[in-house]
Amino acid sequence: MVWQKTLARAVDFVGIGLHGGQPTRLSVQPAPAHYGLRFVRTDLPGRPQVMAHYSRVVGTLRATTLGEGEATVATVEHLLAALWGLGVDNALILVDSPEIPIMDGSAASFARSLGLAGLRSLPWPRSYLVIRHAVELREDQQWMRVAPGRPSITYQIDFSHPMIRRQRYTFRMDDNSFRREIAPARTFGFLKEVEHLRAQGLAQGGSLDNALVLDEQGVLNPEGLRFPEECVRHKILDALGDLALLGLPLVGRVEVGRGSHALHHRFLEHLMRQESAWQVWTPPMHNREFSSAWGATPAWEGAPA
Ligand SMILES: [Zn+2]
Repeated sequence: MVWQKTLARAVDFVGIGLHGGQPTRLSVQPAPAHYGLRFVRTDLPGRPQVMAHYSRVVGTLRATTLGEGEATVATVEHLLAALWGLGVDNALILVDSPEIPIMDGSAASFARSLGLAGLRSLPWPRSYLVIRHAVELREDQQWMRVAPGRPSITYQIDFSHPMIRRQRYTFRMDDNSFRREIAPARTFGFLKEVEHLRAQGLAQGGSLDNALVLDEQGVLNPEGLRFPEECVRHKILDALGDLALLGLPLVGRVEVGRGSHALHHRFLEHLMRQESAWQVWTPPMHNREFSSAWGATPAWEGAPA
């Protein structure tokens, strides 16, 4: 049986916001079944909550920002990807600033510490969003689609930069490889854009400690790349974080070309409007066959980190 999961204990992080540059404390805490993933702004009067749901997206410029009323939480995607990647359905996320800390630009430290905390099963089955027929969104050079099949995401990017060019990578969501293959891939940017971003109030906390920075020829970071195709792996990390905003694990084959947070968000809205294309499915109590066929029981569950 595939039960809903939460964390076995709270996990705390400190860091700075990539775009705002402010010091931030974050505490990811256990939550009951059907709670979902929710942020609480502990620095604001009344400690307002913001649901991690695509309907709460209020900004997609360089990061995904959620908001409800006056309360916003920016750059949620790497943390949400780590929670999703570890199979956490329910968590309360306390944050004392308007932005989730960037850490090293990847989800590695989130995935490592949350993995060390371990998971706890809750006495309710997990539901899935199962794709029944293909849905596609095309906008100029960008596209995103999903088709029925085992959960996977294939991402393609094209940059004229000599260190990137065309990169394509497929991540199979049931492979238990998130922490190794996707979580360590860092966010990336181009040196020529940095001044422009800073003028817009973005990337104020950015440095070579929390982003891969490329000049005309190569990578400025002295340690170089973590993977030859680190950039496209990071795009998969971003997409996983944005897909977590569905609120249910997606069972389907996702493909994205030259995507962005804005495209991921418009695609989720497009997909959810097409109600005949998907079905919310809860495995019957004794259906072990589905668990193995769809990898719905990830091998990392219960495993020591
Ligand atoms: Zn990112």
